[in-house]
Amino acid sequence: MDSHLAGDLARLPALLDSTRRRATTFLDGLAERPVVPAWPAPEPTALPSTGIGLEGALEEFARRWEPGLSASAGPRYLGFVTGGVTPAALAGDWLTATVDQNAMSSLDPTGQHLERETVGWLRELFGLSPAHQGVFVSGATMSNTVGLAIAREWLGESRGVSVADAGTAALGPVRVLSGSAHSSIAKALSMLGMGRDSLTTVALLPGREAVDPAALERALEQAQGPCVVVANAGTVNTVDFDDLRAVADLKRRHAFWLHVDAAFGAFAALSAEHAHLLAALDQADSVCVDLHKWLNVPYDSAVHFTRRRDLQARVFQNAAAYLGPLGDTPDLVHLSPENSRRMRALATWFTLRAYGREGHKEIVERCLACARTLGQAVEATAGLRLLAPVRLNVVCFTLEHDPTPQRLAALAEAAAPEVFLTPTVLDGVPALRAAFSNWRTTPSDARRAADTLRRLL
Ligand SMILES: *Cc1c(COP(=O)(O)O)cnc(C)c1O
Repeated sequence: MDSHLAGDLARLPALLDSTRRRATTFLDGLAERPVVPAWPAPEPTALPSTGIGLEGALEEFARRWEPGLSASAGPRYLGFVTGGVTPAALAGDWLTATVDQNAMSSLDPTGQHLERETVGWLRELFGLSPAHQGVFVSGATMSNTVGLAIAREWLGESRGVSVADAGTAALGPVRVLSGSAHSSIAKALSMLGMGRDSLTTVALLPGREAVDPAALERALEQAQGPCVVVANAGTVNTVDFDDLRAVADLKRRHAFWLHVDAAFGAFAALSAEHAHLLAALDQADSVCVDLHKWLNVPYDSAVHFTRRRDLQARVFQNAAAYLGPLGDTPDLVHLSPENSRRMRALATWFTLRAYGREGHKEIVERCLACARTLGQAVEATAGLRLLAPVRLNVVCFTLEHDPTPQRLAALAEAAAPEVFLTPTVLDGVPALRAAFSNWRTTPSDARRAADTLRRLL
């Protein structure tokens, strides 16, 4: 054994303790470190030929890389839609690496049993019926990709071909209809060989990011045959929701696969005031929900649900002599893009077990209160203009006068040590958005964000 490796093995408990101390120091400084520091990238070094052991690596990481890390896990990183990590989720993630299970096969089954229990909890959390079966994936982009891969197989079924066997060429042209599709949908269509051009944007309701159901019906009529509809439950700019009931009702007259991108909007199910937006979610054929956003588990976590596990297994089955037949309850290896992967469900299991529905409902409701607080402050600030009502957890606003991308970028950059916001364009208007999805954020952080903006105007 390499001497550094043997040395680390001999001192493992003490070294893990040093690592824990580093982690707690980082977490203790989270609320006050620059939210996104201006830190030049260190010069890349050559591959070390001999090591320095874990202690040395910890020291070098702390010196060369840690100062550049953002407070992405902290309370005022409001860019994109970014959750943090609850204490239980962090413990779950540490233990995931500790136990290092490949949770994919019944030959060594406990990991996939735990994943199935966790998926069952999530199904209840989002109000889905047991007709929906789920699997963990790495993020919402991958969840959307899995949903569209199953949709592609369903289109094949309706045309009498198996795309899984014969390829997309056998399928012929496909049409994917959506109002305000997230950028990951086009990326998924590119990966799946359906092509970005297969996406047709359907007209929205006036002044909204939600699809116009009448326009969607006209598009379905024009499509002349089965197609795919991507409905949106929570758009990133204004958290608008398609009328899922109206969209699902179109199935009575038209054949389509209904995929719902509820990456973070699914968490509206935890708010009494907003749960009605998801009342028809169960009608979907496939559903995407991100977990590393509003569930506050570490990155690399999302869930995918579908009613057609048979088609999912056709797409993802991995026929190897050592894996055994599919059976009625296929192993996860036959339902996921990956063959081997970590016990990804454990962080989610921990946070749901530790805090339950009530704990996570409180996080969601507090984020909504924060968004309202910032929204009201923006409205009350001369020089800023709210671009849409605060529907859920995102505040989308711009400068009252001359809102050029350059001026907005300068404002965001000046604010970044205190509060991190990301740029966007809403209906042609350059804007900034603040998304609240971190369990650490309180209304005083929202007020601090507003104060920072006022000071910089
Ligand atoms: C974030 C997001 C995605 C993509 O999620 P990743 O986790 O970054 O892959 C897809 N759809 C919506 C609506 C999102 O908000």
